[in-house]
Formats: sequence, C-alpha cells, structure tokens
Amino acid sequence: MQRRISALVFALCCFCVSLAAQNPELSKAVMRYVKVKTPKIVLTHVRVIDGTGAAAVEDQNVVIEGGKIAGVEQGTDMTTSAGVTVLDLRGYSVMPGIVGMHNHLFYIARPNLNSRREFDDPVVVQQMTYSAPRLYLAGGVTTMRTTGSVETYADLNLKNEIDAGKLPGPHIDVTGPYLEGSPSYFIQMPHLRNPDDARDLVNYWADRGVTSFKAYMNITRAELKAAIDAAHKRGLKVTGHLCSVTYQEAAELGIDDLEHGFFVNTQLDPDKKPDACSESKGDETLRRMDPNGPEARNLFATLIAHRVAITSTLPVFEADMGGGRPPVRQQALDAMTPQAREDYFLLRQRSPAAPPPKVDYAVSFKRDTELERAFAAAGGLLLAGPDPTGQGDVVPGFGDQRGIELLVEAGFTPVQAIRIATLNGAIYLGRDSQIGSIAVGKNADLVVMKGDPSKQISDVENVEVVFKDGVGYDPGKLLESVRGRYGQY
Ligand SMILES: [Zn+2]
Repeated sequence: MQRRISALVFALCCFCVSLAAQNPELSKAVMRYVKVKTPKIVLTHVRVIDGTGAAAVEDQNVVIEGGKIAGVEQGTDMTTSAGVTVLDLRGYSVMPGIVGMHNHLFYIARPNLNSRREFDDPVVVQQMTYSAPRLYLAGGVTTMRTTGSVETYADLNLKNEIDAGKLPGPHIDVTGPYLEGSPSYFIQMPHLRNPDDARDLVNYWADRGVTSFKAYMNITRAELKAAIDAAHKRGLKVTGHLCSVTYQEAAELGIDDLEHGFFVNTQLDPDKKPDACSESKGDETLRRMDPNGPEARNLFATLIAHRVAITSTLPVFEADMGGGRPPVRQQALDAMTPQAREDYFLLRQRSPAAPPPKVDYAVSFKRDTELERAFAAAGGLLLAGPDPTGQGDVVPGFGDQRGIELLVEAGFTPVQAIRIATLNGAIYLGRDSQIGSIAVGKNADLVVMKGDPSKQISDVENVEVVFKDGVGYDPGKLLESVRGRYGQY
C-alpha cells in the first residue's frame, strides 16, 4: 500500500512537472512572436490533415485548451468570448507540427570561396543558435533532432531556454558531438581513436543531458558498437551518416537510424574495405542496387528486423542535380547574410569548362527515391529532415517544407509525405502518444496553412500560424527577426 501511494504521488509530481514544462510563462522576447494565446482557441471550418496518412477531412473545428488538442469536431460557427479565440479558417488547412529528424543548428562556411568553387581549409561549421530555431519554428517545425552538434553546450542550453519559455524555437532532441573516427575532414568534430573513446563520449554527454547520438563517416565497427551499447544502456538512440560501416553492418551492430536515405550505403562499392570509407562514398552502391533486386530486399529485411529507421534528406541532394531545379525561395534568400547568399550563388554555378561530374546525380536521386519508397512499402519506418548544409541552399524551416514536396515528387501521396515528416518522427522518438498527429489529448503542435496541401503540396509553404503547445506563433515576425542573419549567428 505504502508503495502504491508513493507511486501515485510520484505520478502526480511527474504530471505537474510535465505540465509546467509544457506551459511555461513566456518571456517578453518570446511574446513578441506570439499571434494567438488564450486559454482556449477554436480553429473553425478548417481542413484537417491529421498526420496519420488518412485523407484530409473538410470543415472541422479543432479545439485547443490548456496547450492540448481538446476536440476535433464537425465545423460550426462560434463566437469569440472572454478567454476564447475563434479563428475562421475557411480555405485553410491544419496539419501536425513537423518533427524534423535531420535539422542542424549550424551553417557550413567555406573560407574564401571563389567563382571557380575553390575555397580554403578548414571548412568551418558555424553555430546558428539565434537564427536556426526561429527559422524552424516559422517553417512549422515544432520538434527537431539536431542530428550532430558542434557546440553541444549551446544546443543543450538553447533547448532548456526554449522549454523554459525564454527563447522562441521548437522542442529539441539534442544530439551529442559527432562520433567521428579518424582521419576526418571536419576539424570541429571529435576524432575517436578507439572504442573506449566512443564509450566515454557517449557517457560524458548523456550525463549532461544529450538525448541522442550520431555516428559519422570514418567511425570503425568496434567504435560504433561501443557507442551504441553505451547509448542503449542509457535508453538513448544512435543514428549515423556512415561510410566506413555499411548499412547492413550498422543494422547488425544495433544502430537505430541511418541518415541520407540510401545515398551513403557502401556495401556494394567495389573498393570497400572493412572499417574504411570507400572512394565513391556510396554512389556505386546506389547505382548497383536495384530496388527490386535481391540485395535491396535483403537489406530492407535486415533493417526492418532490427527496427532501423531511415531518414530521407532529399533537399540536401537536390542542388547536386544541377539545372532545371527550382531556385531557392526569395524568403529563404532574404534570411541569409549577404555572404551566405553570395556563397550560395557561387556554389550553384558550374563553369562550362569544368569536367562533367563522375556521377549522374539526377539518376542517383531517382534511384534513392525508388529505394526509399520500396523500403516504406516493405514496412520500414521512413523519417524526414532537410540537412541544412550542402551548398547553402537548404535553409532551416524552408528545407523542411521542401523535403515534404520532394517526397511527393518521389511518389508518395501528399498525406503520406506529411505523415513521414510528422507522425513517423514522433514514433521514432517514442513521443507519438503526445505529438505527431492531430488527435484529442495530444499536444497542440499544429501548422495552419492557406490552401490545401493534400491536393497541392506546395501549399505547405503557406504557413499562417504555428502552434506549439497551444500557443500560436507568427511566422512573418519570426522571419523578420532573422532577416539577413542566417550564416552569421
Ligand atoms: Zn547532416
């Protein structure tokens, strides 16, 4: 009995703590970006895309109370009263907040980049603690994983400040410093020397509040195994952007997620040696892996049996395809510093005299999308995130929206693509009882858009209000606050 009472008291305390974390007092700095904040909010006559992949439902009322979704009902007219905001959303749609699963808080700078696309070493990864969280929230991202950090203390403190209502931004799953082997191209990453290093890194950062880890290209199998085991002991997950370890090997070692779709699997690369990255870094495997062939079927079976998710990051590969792709959106350009904008245009242009690329990236892109579709059709868990790095064209928030559009280009229906970017991420994070879809009792993390993305996917760009825990943020004001800043801080 004694034990039952203390368990109940404990449960109640947890409930109070989670409520406080859920609805903190918002600072003046955050209130500046708030459009709607009353105890009760009713979205009337709105089209609901619930995030489960189900068809959109027309003309619904969505009731938000105490930060939660309190009702989803047939649309009716309502009048505003004390403490109740009513938004007439005829012509608008609502979907769950995006759960961005490859969403960095940094920008990659190339020193002295010139018109021949040359630059000096070392490439520098600049922390975007100010601009990135605002861009994500403005774009409809209400939960994100940092998927590799360079200033881990800054990311942890940022997460805490956001959760305490002191700064605007999404909920954050902070990923520790990259678990990178040696040699490595990135000077700011830890370069592991042995499995003990990997274990120590995981334990050190888990003690400080990091909630996930990411292995990188030059890690060995033994180091990866040590990291996975240490993380799993603490109940934390490990993802990887791999090269030295193949997808098949990583799945068997117990990894939880693999980044970049099927672009960086090296198992069929002709020069692949154990524990070493291959020359083509997976391009050859992608070219050789028929989505209906035995290698792909075996790989899917291994991934699914080991419950390994795959994160689709199509936006970061889009620019590699060269001409014919839509230009980056004006609003995204407006967010960049003049230097970031200039670098983006320098990287985008190719000299006619330059030798053609060794790989036809348009073919690779198509092949990857076929594999992602086949993996999902086989029952695999596909996640999405833009990976705002690459050639500077993938900007936080805008990139998340572009990722959903590219999943539709890949052959998913609009509601399936939205599910991949919302509920699937929540499932992976183990948070699907609270976020990821529009259902009574879940947190009111919602994106209101003009138009109908279930018919025209580019309408995901028309974000009008982003609700996080029932507070409606103004994307225009958030974007205005970072105008010309992305690339600097
Ligand atoms: Zn990345």
